[in-house]
Amino acid sequence: MNLVLLGPPGAGKGTQAKSIATEYNIPHISTGDIFRKNIAEETPLGKKAKEYIDQGLLVPDQLTIDIVKDRLSEDDCKKGFLLDGFPRTVFQAEALDKMLQEDGKKIDVALLIEVPREDILKRMTGRRVCVSCGASYHVSFNPTKVEGICDVCGKEVIQRKDDKEDTVKERLNVYDKQTQPLISYYKECDKLSEVDGTQAIDKVFEDIKSLLGETN
Ligand code: ADP
Ligand code: ADP
Ligand code: ZN
Repeated sequence: MNLVLLGPPGAGKGTQAKSIATEYNIPHISTGDIFRKNIAEETPLGKKAKEYIDQGLLVPDQLTIDIVKDRLSEDDCKKGFLLDGFPRTVFQAEALDKMLQEDGKKIDVALLIEVPREDILKRMTGRRVCVSCGASYHVSFNPTKVEGICDVCGKEVIQRKDDKEDTVKERLNVYDKQTQPLISYYKECDKLSEVDGTQAIDKVFEDIKSLLGETN
């Protein structure tokens, strides 16, 4: 199964992606996680991406597309994959369709996690992420068992620099202008499925499983 997760920043894509990847045994590919790893390791890609990410802007399309193309060519993607945070522009979505088509593949479902704007800011400013495995927590809604320590891998959890209120607002503007049009893009090719992301984390996952069960 080849999946794309859609939804505004803070909708719960990363949180659900971890569960979906385990349940369906497919790799979770998060462009945000890839960029953050490169930033931490101070690679040339990381240095370039940081300029945009810190301002809440999108990393240029071509750079992002090349990274995804490389990642999708790895062996573990043969059984399917879950893209989280990509595509984020119509140009990226078209490039994705094209690269998959060259391989005789396609996106099966674009899953939209819907959360109203008034919930987003609370989620994002309370978000904490693991520096190592990327697991996402929330200080009130989904805290770690031990404060500051990742439940999954035992490493440190931190607040992302781009999760401060001003940058979050810019990212939401960017979402409205550049990413929101993807909803129509996937609706038009009849691939869009929607879940109510305001429910509890487990309930959202239950809904996702029943939706994907129907498509499989
Ligand atoms: P995204 O990847 O879409 O940006 P995350 O999965 O990182 O979103 O979730 C954003 C924040 O909201 C995190 O702090 C996460 O713990 C929290 N969160 C995710 N899903 C829910 C939910 N259903 N209810 C409450 N908080 C949630
Ligand atoms: P969130 O789901 O909370 O918005 P991500 O971890 O997906 O955050 O992305 C963090 C940042 O990385 C984005 O604000 C953007 O700067 C950059 N980024 C991630 N994915 C893409 C993409 N597909 N295209 C361009 N920039 C991206
Ligand atoms: Zn971790």
